[in-house]
Amino acid sequence: MSNAGEHAFQELEHSHKASPEQYDVAILGGGIAGLTVALQIKQMRPNTRILVLEKQEHPVPEAAHKVGESTVEVAAYYLRDVLGLDEHLQKQQLRKFGLRMFFSSGDNQEIERRVEYGQIEQAPLPAYQIDRGRLENALGDEIRRRDITFLDGCKVQRIELQPQDAFHRVRILHQESEREIEARWLIDASGRSALLKRQLGLAKKWSTTPMPSGFASIIPSTSTVGPPIPSGAPASTARSVRSPPIT
Ligand SMILES: Cc1cc2nc3c(=O)[nH]c(=O)nc-3n(C[C@H](O)[C@H](O)[C@H](O)COP(=O)(O)OP(=O)(O)OC[C@H]3O[C@@H](n4cnc5c(N)ncnc54)[C@H](O)[C@@H]3O)c2cc1C
Repeated sequence: MSNAGEHAFQELEHSHKASPEQYDVAILGGGIAGLTVALQIKQMRPNTRILVLEKQEHPVPEAAHKVGESTVEVAAYYLRDVLGLDEHLQKQQLRKFGLRMFFSSGDNQEIERRVEYGQIEQAPLPAYQIDRGRLENALGDEIRRRDITFLDGCKVQRIELQPQDAFHRVRILHQESEREIEARWLIDASGRSALLKRQLGLAKKWSTTPMPSGFASIIPSTSTVGPPIPSGAPASTARSVRSPPIT
């Protein structure tokens, strides 16, 4: 981060006498991208006040909650070594044999005739077949432990971007009542709802079939200079980038 950006960010981290509804960063959507970026920012900037807004109530159901993630090694590395979820991965998730490929054989009706290419022993750097519900529940518990405000069962209804002001405004519906929160930075991690993409008309038509991916778009208010994205940040934290590869 530039010196100016660092200065502006420190300034806002130390300026929290105001309303409890004001945050440095509000993350819209608490799926895997939103929950992991919340943890990562908190690790790197413990004084940053972070709010995560998630529509679904926690705990979410296990097994059938969302499709994926079948992680490859780089994603497992991020969860284990960057976010410190080693124990959860080892005890709660299923270790797998990395990336495997199946080649065609005739009309592919007989799976046992297809040639399978992949590891036959566990790799030193493990990968996991992850139960998304279980992971998101663990991440939800973890971010609360690390002093991040996590409002589950909370729907983002309207976003008012205030590029000239210190705070953006977000209207939420939580526990059947509507209210407004304010944040200097907004991270859109709402997945296919794509709240900011829709609002800003950034959607584009593709001629090919789109590939499922995770997004976190980051919108600062102008009073903060420079992006607070940690250097070397993983896919889920960068501006509109893909989540780990699909296997
Ligand atoms: C069929 C299929 C198979 C896949 N297989 C794999 C795989 O094997 N490996 C892999 O790595 N990836 C896989 N993926 C991709 C993976 O599922 C996505 O990349 C990942 O779910 C994206 O995470 P996310 O956090 O960006 O979005 P999501 O997990 O969708 O999270 C977005 C969150 O925002 C919340 N939200 C939305 N609107 C609002 C609102 N208005 N207010 C508050 N909260 C809101 C939602 O409730 C949700 O929890 C697969 C996807 C599909 C469809």
